[in-house]
Amino acid sequence: MTDTTETDTTETTPRQIVIFDTTLRDGEQSPGASMNLAEKMEVAQALVDLGVDVIEAGFPIASPGDFEAVREIARSIRGSVICGLARCREADIDRAWEAVQHAEQARIHVFLATSAIHREFKLKMDKDEIIRRAVAGVQRAFGYCSNVEFSPEDAARTESDFLCRVVEAAIDAGATTVNIPDTVGYATPAHMHKVIANLRNRVPNIDKAVISVHCHNDLGMAVANSLAAVEAGAGQIECTINGLGERAGNCSLEEIVMALRTRQDYFRADTRIVSRRLVPTSRLVASVTGIHVQRNKAIVGQNAFAHEAGIHQDGMLKERTTYEIMRPEDVGFAMTDLVLGKHSGRAALADRAANLGYHLTAEQLDHVFEEFKVLADKKKEIYDGDIAVLIEQQIRAVAEQWSLESYRVTSGTGRAPEVSLTLRHGAEEFSTQMACGDGPVDAIFLAIEELTGFSVVCKDFHVHSVTVGKDAQGEVLVQVEYQDRLYRGRGVSTDSVEASAKAFLNAINRIAAVSNGGQA
Ligand SMILES: [Zn+2]
Repeated sequence: MTDTTETDTTETTPRQIVIFDTTLRDGEQSPGASMNLAEKMEVAQALVDLGVDVIEAGFPIASPGDFEAVREIARSIRGSVICGLARCREADIDRAWEAVQHAEQARIHVFLATSAIHREFKLKMDKDEIIRRAVAGVQRAFGYCSNVEFSPEDAARTESDFLCRVVEAAIDAGATTVNIPDTVGYATPAHMHKVIANLRNRVPNIDKAVISVHCHNDLGMAVANSLAAVEAGAGQIECTINGLGERAGNCSLEEIVMALRTRQDYFRADTRIVSRRLVPTSRLVASVTGIHVQRNKAIVGQNAFAHEAGIHQDGMLKERTTYEIMRPEDVGFAMTDLVLGKHSGRAALADRAANLGYHLTAEQLDHVFEEFKVLADKKKEIYDGDIAVLIEQQIRAVAEQWSLESYRVTSGTGRAPEVSLTLRHGAEEFSTQMACGDGPVDAIFLAIEELTGFSVVCKDFHVHSVTVGKDAQGEVLVQVEYQDRLYRGRGVSTDSVEASAKAFLNAINRIAAVSNGGQA
């Protein structure tokens, strides 16, 4: 596996690898991770700040919502190439162009499956037909824009000779990037290396395009497979923040970027990524999607840099590099969790917000500052985590059809909880009193269902504290199912029952926004 490329041997400048982020397209396809327009815009801006080269903003023909999100991102986000996905069909490609055409730099990404199993069962096309379709698709995209990416879907399981033919034809038709997806997460590092090396050795026009990889993590090897592809000469990696994506997810951006940077001695390749933005971006995506990263997640997990073992701590105190291959501050862990309090002013809050990576308008800052004052009355020390949730509530507020006015619940052993609840819907208030449920949280959920008329199935519920201390704010995340779709909700309060009620209402409001109105 040491096929050194010509450019690799020049000691001084590492080869630049293009980072193609697909958090907003492939990542968003993971169940329960769907984002609204405001959330997508926030993530897109964070990706630009992170230094991502290409942002795949969505699949415009998939739905009007997808189209609108890609178009808005293309219109207003500057600093990265904005890409839209399309199947090899005229309507798809036209729609993708319509969405990305106003980008500072636009890319159309067309894909068509090439493996035998996809040809036979999904597309029912023979090899020649596949080539014709691929060429026609790339040509149509190239007619609109000179930056065209082509993906032979399920490339990792495609016969080597046929893959070479398709890639050569796509490049001839105008593809400037050819992406090799391991759609089902089937490859291993040695296999992936062979696939890429084979293309470089056998496709005559391969130097006219950048070779890319898109690896899924079904066997836990997406990052390793992507690194093997880079070693074999790939120049672009497709990845997502936190490895978000369907099933076991995609290649994780933070891991691949830090692997290349930490082992530059070996790979002689680097990226444009501003690594100190990794942790803030990871937090933003986790909070927007409600999908948190595990504590021991490489690079961005809460414990990624925690040294507990005594012998390690001893070594660390003497010399950090004994047990540390990266510095926590390099990936964006704050050295000090600065504490704000009651007497902190608007400027201090603005400063923290900027450090945490948020872009607030003056008006948003005013609202967050008001909330901050209310919170500062309830708890003495306000940490970064507290500020982050205040801001996120502000910038990602779903249109609140239903809001919590007041609640009272009494519960105890051996009797059903009694709940009285008042909700606001527009100018009207609705109240109910009932004795029901299995504990105070369940009782409130039932009362909310009764008042709003939405009956849902609660699929997931968890509470965790945003920061440390007895007066910490509790964050509740719920996931509910309504008419076969998953919706999530999030609520924060120093009172965990209230946080639960807010989270449940937040989910109901998301449902109401989609179904256009409650049924009060
Ligand atoms: Zn994928």
